[in-house]
Amino acid sequence: MTAQVHGFQTEVTKLLKLLANSLYSNKEVFLRELISNASDAVDKLRFLSITSPELTKDDPNFWIRVRADEKAGTLTISDNGIGMTLNEANEHLGTIAKSGTEEFFKNLSKDQAKASQLIGQFGVGFYSAFIVADRVTVLSRAAGSKPEEGVRWSSDGSGTYESENITRNERGTDVVLHLKDSEKEFLNEWTLRETITRYSDHISTPVLLWCEKHEPASEKDGEKKEDKPVWGWEQVNDAKALWTLAPKDVKDEQYIAFYKHLTHDYGDPLTWAHNRVEGDLEYISLLYIPKEAPWDLYSRDEKHGLKLYVQRVFIMDNSEEFLPNYLRFVKGLVDTTALDLNVSRELLQKSPVTRKLKRALTKRALSMIEKLAADKDKYQIFWSQYGRVMKEGPIEDPSDREQVMKLLRFASTKSGTAAQTVSLEDYIARMPEKQKNIYYLTAGSYEAAANSPYLETLRKKGIEVLLLTDRVDEWLMGNVRDFEGHSFVPATASDLQLGDLADKDDQKKKDEAEKDNKGVVERLKKALEGKVTNVRISTRLVDSPSCIVGEQDQMLTPQMRRMLEAAGQ
Ligand code: ADP
Ligand code: MG
Repeated sequence: MTAQVHGFQTEVTKLLKLLANSLYSNKEVFLRELISNASDAVDKLRFLSITSPELTKDDPNFWIRVRADEKAGTLTISDNGIGMTLNEANEHLGTIAKSGTEEFFKNLSKDQAKASQLIGQFGVGFYSAFIVADRVTVLSRAAGSKPEEGVRWSSDGSGTYESENITRNERGTDVVLHLKDSEKEFLNEWTLRETITRYSDHISTPVLLWCEKHEPASEKDGEKKEDKPVWGWEQVNDAKALWTLAPKDVKDEQYIAFYKHLTHDYGDPLTWAHNRVEGDLEYISLLYIPKEAPWDLYSRDEKHGLKLYVQRVFIMDNSEEFLPNYLRFVKGLVDTTALDLNVSRELLQKSPVTRKLKRALTKRALSMIEKLAADKDKYQIFWSQYGRVMKEGPIEDPSDREQVMKLLRFASTKSGTAAQTVSLEDYIARMPEKQKNIYYLTAGSYEAAANSPYLETLRKKGIEVLLLTDRVDEWLMGNVRDFEGHSFVPATASDLQLGDLADKDDQKKKDEAEKDNKGVVERLKKALEGKVTNVRISTRLVDSPSCIVGEQDQMLTPQMRRMLEAAGQ
């Protein structure tokens, strides 16, 4: 059979023309695309062989091979997957089968920069080979077909391709890239190794690289052997896709090793959560909390977010869209079948699937933290690292407010130390029966808070007061009104709303004191004119002679005022 020449589908020609100029800054994606196609081909055959085991009898172990031939200037990506018939090769490698393709190209503007951005989002798949190659030859044979039904497909990417049947002994596909002179770096072992591990480390099929191995010098049969290089296949990816295993089959050591691989952290994680979810929204998540917060947790430029995999194929790092900002310390990955392999950051931000995954993963992360909270000592490690970030939670995300608030910890007049160990539930559980509100005091330091005169009445009545000394506390209290039906009331408020807790004779005492001290109050008012709105007799103090209070509902507490002053306002 002689090779037939075919024209590419118009859209393919347009795509190929755009490629040369557009994806240049990300040119190594061609390797990811071709390995991912090889991995798809393997996955398809793996699936078929479940019902037709004879398809893989000839070569039952799946592999993907990458081989550079320096002399020929070629890079070959091979697999022993499902392969293609001649018809399939013509159809799949000559057209773009994606829905909306025509529409996409119609709307592609003349603006080159915009076009290249869009083309990246569109996903170039197999055609990305032409970013680095001036000729691509595909040799293939479909699993289950005869050796004479092998295929040779070849193109220089300029509008036409030729294809024919050949005899091929093995099933599967070789994609041979004749590298452009400018792209010879992809013959380099280190470059290949690095690119493969970066993009394809955890696809479940082994990726083997043809490389030089050095055998140590040895003495065999009395004959001295030189340290001479031998060439062979070396597996460069992990190929274990740890997260796809059932949690019960994964040992703690494996989770810890994987965490280190993922984060480059030297230390162990504090905890992790591994979930596999089937149904409408299929995903696997593996989330970790590092023992130590990163130094740039509060920096705007700090990179965070999960690794995104679609169907085991690595898509991108630092996908921030799957967790709220206050959970930015959570590391890990999500692997889903609900997104497209060609999903880009821009598409990700728009996708309703992203929003659904964010809800689901937020719940996973919060339940992981809840479990951690059951172990008080461990939770203190967590809280000391991430407590201040967690306090951003109820402000950022009202939908999970109650759940996050249960996870918060504070110092209080009852705990007696600066350590933040008291939960709102602890507080409510030990409230005197008649107490309705949750009292708190914000101050610049624990000492200042603990010794504040504002606490005197409350202390006398046995009312616990939360002592809040983190910067974020004032912001938090300005945003949350209550917890489980109990209002937050600052100990500095002029009306402490003590309700049934107020002494019956407080009012009588107050009336008497007002009568007796009328002159003093008048003199003080005069002396402090313009500095205070009012001077009043109060029954709230026990040992101190006087204190400054804010009007009820006035958000400007003394601590907040100090913050605003410090900020120059
Ligand atoms: P996608 O992978 O999104 O379908 P590609 O452009 O990457 O798009 O590939 C186009 C098609 O070519 C694939 O869907 C598949 O049918 C076929 N193909 C590409 N590479 C291989 C391969 N190594 N083995 C078998 N089929 C392949
Ligand atoms: Mg593909």
